[in-house]
Amino acid sequence: MSELSQLSPQPLWDIFAKICSIPHPSYHEEQLAQYILSWAAEQGLATDRDEVGNILIRKPATPGMENLKPVALQAHLDMVPQKNNDTVHDFSKDPVQPWIDGEWVKARGTTLGADNGIGMASALAVLADKTVEHGPLEVLLTMTEETGMVGAFGLQPNWLQAEILINTDSEEEGEIYMGCAGGIDFTATLPINRETIPAGFTHQQLILKGLKGGHSGADIHLGLGNANKLLARFLFTHARQLDLRLVDFTGGTLRNAIPREAVATLAVPAAKVDELKSLARSYQETLQNELGLKEKNINLALENVTAGEPALTANSRDTFIALLNSMPNGVIRNSDVMKGVVETSLNIGVVAISPHEAKINCLVRSLIDSGKDYLVETLTALGELAGAKTVAKGSYPGWQPDASSPIMAIVGATYKKLFNKTPNIQVIHAGLECGLFKKPYPKMDMVSIGPTITGPHSPDEQVHIGSVGLYWQLLTALLKAIPVK
Ligand SMILES: [Zn+2]
Repeated sequence: MSELSQLSPQPLWDIFAKICSIPHPSYHEEQLAQYILSWAAEQGLATDRDEVGNILIRKPATPGMENLKPVALQAHLDMVPQKNNDTVHDFSKDPVQPWIDGEWVKARGTTLGADNGIGMASALAVLADKTVEHGPLEVLLTMTEETGMVGAFGLQPNWLQAEILINTDSEEEGEIYMGCAGGIDFTATLPINRETIPAGFTHQQLILKGLKGGHSGADIHLGLGNANKLLARFLFTHARQLDLRLVDFTGGTLRNAIPREAVATLAVPAAKVDELKSLARSYQETLQNELGLKEKNINLALENVTAGEPALTANSRDTFIALLNSMPNGVIRNSDVMKGVVETSLNIGVVAISPHEAKINCLVRSLIDSGKDYLVETLTALGELAGAKTVAKGSYPGWQPDASSPIMAIVGATYKKLFNKTPNIQVIHAGLECGLFKKPYPKMDMVSIGPTITGPHSPDEQVHIGSVGLYWQLLTALLKAIPVK
């Protein structure tokens, strides 16, 4: 028995503990899917599966509530597999180990999978619970949301009977989400030439680290430092001045995470090393002055390294640095419709140089498709000026806010009645599957709610125990408050 069993509501936490015990990173959800299918069959519930593997479970209405509008509760089956460097964990076979730390549940050195495991557990707990009152109910569990929203893309029309969909994948109790940004990946690939480094050069690594990083959508309005951009800025000013030869540049690990660290490997004329050191020190001070209120640990260090590959030619170096330095980054525009919400943004997430080319990867987000298109056109134009090959792909639509959504009004009123306070109606600058559901189900009335989860997609992920209780109260009251057809 898991220590989570002492938490309330117990059935939800028990199911969540079970979910944690079965590995289910993206693309490896099958074991969990099979478990859930047989679990549902044991409860006497009808199950179905579509071609991409999405699961649909149907539960008949509580007697007397058959006339309510049918509702679908939705969660994604997969979780993001991330672990600390010093944690030994194989996500394909080792169970996640949840534990209670005061008000929070965390995992030992890995992501917890509360995103979206708590949502999934709440939907299954509704199926199992004989006391929750509801109309005709469907539970939709989608495949592989975290890498490419595979299940949501594959969802077929005329499968769901629901007219209302409650997505459980948002991460702030007290906030109700009614819209989200869409996204597209953009890559610029720049061909480069290399040449042998002349005698009299010494190899140094210029390392920018200590930045906070964060989610490239949900945290983009914070104005945090982007390691790729900040290092390019230094090199743009000083590479020519000091005759620095660029051997390598690498920064960031994921296009959807704000890069915390970037490293440039340089060949430096031996006579200029001291000057480089002092310029690096003063640039660190500049950055502390600009960003120090938010970024407390900015560190720009120089380290000796042994000689490696030939360096980029001066021309390749200048083109690469100019391209990276000229690319926009961060918030591009705020929404006029939703006050305080970012409309369009991008994150220059991953930069890497191989022997013959440099690659710059970013994720563009916007609440409106045309905002996304415009930014991609800007990046394409810059790429073309530099002679880079540009590709924009993996586009997914946003979920356009509908101010007249009936379910939104019901959630708001139910929340107010339960907790005597007005919830925040929000639009999230990150991806939810709801935007994709609109294609096969254009008339679906949708809303997204969830408990408070911090640090999702990182080993710091944790879920607030009290917020799970509040979320459960809201969810069950909501099912009861659904109007008749
Ligand atoms: Zn999620």
